[in-house]
Amino acid sequence: MSAPRIFRPGATIGIVGGGQLGRMSAMAAARLGFHVHILTPETNSPAAEVARGVTLGAYDDEAALRDFAAHVDVVTFEFENVSATGLALLESLRPVRPGRAILETSQDRIAEKTRLAELGAATAPWRPARDAAELDAAIAALGFPLILKTTRLGYDGKGQFPLPDAAAFAALDIAAPPWPLIAEGYVDFDREISVMVARGIDGTVRCFDATQNIHRNGILDLSLAPAPVAPELARAAQDLAARVAEGLELVGLMGVEMFVTADGGLLVNEIAPRPHNSGHWTMDACLADQFEMHVRAVAGLPLPPAMRHGDAVMKNLIGPDDMALCDAILASPGQALHLYGKAEARPGRKMGHVTIRFPFGALPGEAGISAALGPL
Ligand code: ADP
Ligand code: MG
Repeated sequence: MSAPRIFRPGATIGIVGGGQLGRMSAMAAARLGFHVHILTPETNSPAAEVARGVTLGAYDDEAALRDFAAHVDVVTFEFENVSATGLALLESLRPVRPGRAILETSQDRIAEKTRLAELGAATAPWRPARDAAELDAAIAALGFPLILKTTRLGYDGKGQFPLPDAAAFAALDIAAPPWPLIAEGYVDFDREISVMVARGIDGTVRCFDATQNIHRNGILDLSLAPAPVAPELARAAQDLAARVAEGLELVGLMGVEMFVTADGGLLVNEIAPRPHNSGHWTMDACLADQFEMHVRAVAGLPLPPAMRHGDAVMKNLIGPDDMALCDAILASPGQALHLYGKAEARPGRKMGHVTIRFPFGALPGEAGISAALGPL
């Protein structure tokens, strides 16, 4: 096999997806002297706004995929749900990083959990629930409470149905669920953390510090970096993320979401082979942030250490209510504002984020964080 190709500044990186993750990847790529071309079905997308070019088209439209590939040297993703045929076509035309196998694994929660088990990574107990009979068997095996999730295309808690007890199951309209589903035992976690891990073409692995994530209405609200956990636990989380990245032969960047259980165990919740919302703090607290790490890994360039030079809290700006706080944020010294350039602030839509930096080792407790967030 020939050695993987290296793409140097001046080359064009193709990003599938036009959202904020693509936008911030494109900005990191531009800083390193790369050109960026975006594939998205959306006119005026956040990523296309800061890229050299855009192919407007659906992710499974062969003509659009061919046009996109013709404009780029190497392909990566900010949105990983491209069809198997679309991925195969892209792969036949250009290097695709991360590769098809890992994308297909992360697209399907059953494939993902199966692969994680093969890699020795513990998860919540789960059963496939692809139809009503499997769901009955899953409930018999797992008991209540449990969570049903669509196997594909879920994000920000969408496509999830908590079943706290038998009464909730009885109330479920069994004809209506969007099969196929996966049933997961409900994890009464102590906290949620994540690790961003990058892996280069030469197998170099870099892990950013573990981050604690706090969700509101199923959407990430706050990330605390570093996660306020024992150093051994933080280290174990990085080791686990590195093991999964190596096992999946990642080339690129991946977010690994985990639950910390009451006894200090780690369960992998899900993986996302792309930049991740819980890694946004790295933009203001690391020498090379997650987006630069993503670009470097995809281009085949050396990966610098994931070095953090400060502590940070990241707060998502969701919908019109948070957007109304922009003037106050701009007037607050020490709050770094990142906006995604979305025209319309619909409720539940991620519009931007704010990072608050603290000196290294000085992340405050809950009260201090609340005070620093002020009106946010
Ligand atoms: P999404 O793709 O929407 O991020 P996740 O599987 O990460 O889907 O679920 C979103 C959130 O729902 C998680 O971050 C966690 O707070 C909660 N959650 C998901 N699965 C479980 C589970 N098995 N037990 C307890 N909480 C869960
Ligand atoms: Mg998640």
